Amino acid sequence: MPSKVEVLVIGGGATGTGIARDLAMRGVDIVLVEAGDFATGTTGANHGMLHSGARYALTDPISAKECAAESKILKHIAHFCIEDTGGLFVLAKDDNEGYADEFLNACRLANIDTHEIDVDKALTLEPGLDSNIRAVVEVPDASIDPFFLTLGNVEAARFYGATVLNHSPVCGIRSSGSRFEVTINSGKKSILADVVVNATGAWAGRTAAMLGIDVPICMDKGTMVVFNGRLVNRLINRMRPPSDGDILVPHRTSTILGTTSSPGSLGEVASYSEVESLINEAAAIFPNIRTARAIRSYTGIRPLLNCKEMGRSITRSFQVIDHAYDGVDGMLSIIGGKLTTFRLMAEKASDVIMKKLGRTARCSTANEEIILSDDEASDIFDVEAMRYRQGRKINNLSLDMACGCEAVSSGELFIQASSPDVVNIDDLMRRTRAGMGYCQAGLCVLNMASAMGVGVSELRHYMSERWKGIEPVLYGEQLRQEAFKAHLMRVYGIDHTEPPQ
Ligand SMILES: Cc1cc2nc3c(=O)[nH]c(=O)nc-3n(C[C@H](O)[C@H](O)[C@H](O)COP(=O)(O)OP(=O)(O)OC[C@H]3O[C@@H](n4cnc5c(N)ncnc54)[C@H](O)[C@@H]3O)c2cc1C
Repeated sequence: MPSKVEVLVIGGGATGTGIARDLAMRGVDIVLVEAGDFATGTTGANHGMLHSGARYALTDPISAKECAAESKILKHIAHFCIEDTGGLFVLAKDDNEGYADEFLNACRLANIDTHEIDVDKALTLEPGLDSNIRAVVEVPDASIDPFFLTLGNVEAARFYGATVLNHSPVCGIRSSGSRFEVTINSGKKSILADVVVNATGAWAGRTAAMLGIDVPICMDKGTMVVFNGRLVNRLINRMRPPSDGDILVPHRTSTILGTTSSPGSLGEVASYSEVESLINEAAAIFPNIRTARAIRSYTGIRPLLNCKEMGRSITRSFQVIDHAYDGVDGMLSIIGGKLTTFRLMAEKASDVIMKKLGRTARCSTANEEIILSDDEASDIFDVEAMRYRQGRKINNLSLDMACGCEAVSSGELFIQASSPDVVNIDDLMRRTRAGMGYCQAGLCVLNMASAMGVGVSELRHYMSERWKGIEPVLYGEQLRQEAFKAHLMRVYGIDHTEPPQ
């Protein structure tokens, strides 16, 4: 790692890695450091919805317009991680009928391409919808894989010369003359930077506090539930003001139901009552959700700047804060926004940074595809194509199945495990999806541990962490699955329901 750079970015979510890609493409000398693995903050804990903007058209027109423009750009530059499913907004039997006209009008004003379709046609397209729904509007929503998007940004930033490091927590920042000295990994490394960017999302208040700057962040928690298999073909939104349990996203081999919005804190897990209430709400438009198999729950934190109001009344747009106004010139924080608008956020932050550096190169991130691979398979997004893509790199390594739920080969596990970025089983899971399927790693965890060359204590730690998201959905088939897994783990001397050690 260099000991001096022009810009140091803290935070390896979509925003930070987006900034790293943007600045590296403009020729800036940059290092990014992430405390854990890439996309382990809110970026890896959302619905994976590429917003057309329709969800915010009536309540948050600024965010709606940003999403409308950015989703079109991302479908072009990040098609390797987007499934362009389209979406439907559905008026439930007892919801306000007048809302449909207001919604269509607001979408038109935000430049979102929408069409009302017959209820009968919608029921043919999505047979699981409630037969009593009263109006349906088609919108250009899509499904996006946040892990692959972020890893794509990392790959692109490195291609343009950036140093990008995961598992490198910043533990101190000191202003030293016109530069900053940033301490990483409990003081094991330090680096001098002309500009420091705080892209730490929900941790932004803590990061700014290292320089004595006050960034008042309120934490708003959202809970989501993952169901086994694709219950819907398109993204389904309930046509009403954004509320709990009104989004269903088809995502890879699963369906994600979200979300709630309530005051929360970092590391908080979902509760059984949140899961129950999400399912009850969603049943108004998709009754079969009651009998579908939930396989896990997870939570994400929205860092909100305006603490007087909370939750859904706050804009989903973003702010670039120049701390020159706090007397610390050269430090910026970037807060809020959406996964969908990460590129725009990165562009605006990078424009401010370029001014500070006295440099003139302009943003070109909207015009160049993120993955600069010549691999044609990355043109098609589906599970087979991703496997094929990995398989081509595997050559002589085994294609035996290592994770049956997600169709991951042992060769793929070994290839990914050999990356210097992959230091634990979790990192391996994010890059391959092994362990994310309905058995929740019950049958593949030994293959993952073996690919990583780690022992029982790491295996136990990983399983106990997974358990936190499984416990709130213990009913029906998943309860049977977990009882089976508990017996199996006992064979290895592990109680995976104990807290992580
Ligand atoms: C419930 C929920 C659902 C959502 N659904 C969607 C959706 O469907 N579509 C959409 O477009 N948007 C969605 N969003 C919004 C979206 O997820 C976020 O806007 C986006 O992921 C924020 O990314 P980020 O990079 O700013 O923050 P994060 O992803 O949180 O990244 C911050 C990073 O900083 C790191 N960090 C913290 N402290 C340090 C330190 N000291 N040193 C080094 N690194 C540090 C963290 O480890 C973390 O990885 C949702 C948000 C929530 C809460």
